[in-house]
Amino acid sequence: MDMPTVAIVGRPNVGKSTLFNRLVGKKLALVDDRPGVTRDRREGDVNFGGLVFRVIDTAGLEQADADSLLGRMRAQTETAILEADVVLFVIDARAGILPADQPFAELVRRAGCPVVLIANKAEGGTGLSGAYEAFSLGLGDPIPFSAEHGEGIGELHDALTEALPKLDDEDEEYDDDPSNRSLKVAIVGRPNAGKSTLINRMLGEERLLVGPEAGITRDSISLDWEWRGRRIKLHDTAGMRRKARIDDKLEKLAVSDGLRAVRFAEVVVVLLDATIPFEKQDLTIVDLIESEGRALVIGLNKWDLVADQPGLLKKLREDCTRLLPQVRGVSVVPLSGLAGDGIDTLMKAVTETFEVWNKRISTSKINDWLNEATQRNPPPAVASRRIKIRYATQVKSRPPHFALFGNQLDGLPKSYTRYLVNNLREAFDLPGVPIRLSLRTSK
Ligand code: GDP
Ligand code: GDP
Repeated sequence: MDMPTVAIVGRPNVGKSTLFNRLVGKKLALVDDRPGVTRDRREGDVNFGGLVFRVIDTAGLEQADADSLLGRMRAQTETAILEADVVLFVIDARAGILPADQPFAELVRRAGCPVVLIANKAEGGTGLSGAYEAFSLGLGDPIPFSAEHGEGIGELHDALTEALPKLDDEDEEYDDDPSNRSLKVAIVGRPNAGKSTLINRMLGEERLLVGPEAGITRDSISLDWEWRGRRIKLHDTAGMRRKARIDDKLEKLAVSDGLRAVRFAEVVVVLLDATIPFEKQDLTIVDLIESEGRALVIGLNKWDLVADQPGLLKKLREDCTRLLPQVRGVSVVPLSGLAGDGIDTLMKAVTETFEVWNKRISTSKINDWLNEATQRNPPPAVASRRIKIRYATQVKSRPPHFALFGNQLDGLPKSYTRYLVNNLREAFDLPGVPIRLSLRTSK
């Protein structure tokens, strides 16, 4: 099945492009103005908290000369609507419903596909009367939204989840339920930590063994595996190593391979040799995982060689708490790739951490939490004015990303945001994943 298509429709200046940019996000650079089709619209591929779709922006025509503008824009919009599985109909909540909105609303009504009505520019509760006016369009309940400030994102996600066509289970690329897709896992660690041995054990065959076929490069960087009926894609560490041998630039490739593995993965297992303590290199890779926003599990390999197992486990768990505050609560799993022990526990930790990474928390729960946390420990005063956090919401998952809205938030000390992040992690049970927090100060 093709990727579903979402068209952003509305009269000029309501904020369609801003919404488009917000949805497409970092991938904006990849937006193509498919030559030959039309230069008047932009398209982009979107992964919106696990919802994958193609989005079409119909805003490009605003530069056209005024005479032909409306006609061309209508034609453009008509084509986009024809292609769309869902229409995002955008109005300006501050301006209310204007005559210019009507022809576009009419096109959308006639199309008969699901419509999500967005009352944009409603940040901080402004423009609510415009949002109410929007009911009169007969296109359903408007979502008060702010494309510029990211408000209403959670509601938009819910509405799109409802409106987008449900996809076939076989279609893993575009499945919107992450538990049905292959989970991408990379096993990283220093040379000799036992990565290849562990992967071989998982796959139950000697597939990665270096030997006669050393030096063979493959195109694919992943190996398909199944654990308890769950499809897993494992990053092929050894494949990369074989390449390294040819190039004889092992050191350099080890670094870029680490980065590549982390980028490939949703969950990264950092494999440590339990007989060798933490080294700087291990901490560097954890920093990389945190900055790339991946979920983390720590494997303590070669556990069969450890004499005082309970003592060492306690010590290494303490080391993790102390050395890795950015992924507090990370699972630490003893195992032996050689003996095949502990792999089940490792994979259980991997799938659980993946769930946490995908978790979505409702805005009302977050705000209950915020009230409680700020009452217990109020934000400090800056220049004798108290900082006020008014509202919080989860703007993204994978990893969990929260936004706080309020006054003078730029003045919040690091120690206070750290308090909030640690508290969020505890309150919503988010161990082992990076947590992002954005501060949005209202003017
Ligand atoms: P388009 O013509 O529909 O694509 O609209 P644009 O995305 O170009 O936005 C038109 C104007 O509205 C720009 O000046 C935006 O900065 C502004 N705008 C877009 N979204 C918002 C919003 O959520 N709040 C406010 N206050 N302004 C917005
Ligand atoms: P890689 O460089 O991380 O891929 O490490 P290898 O898988 O090549 O393993 C390095 C060495 O450690 C090999 O000699 C393995 O036999 C050994 N090794 C790997 N896993 C274990 C384990 O769980 N226990 C023990 N005792 N040795 C292991």
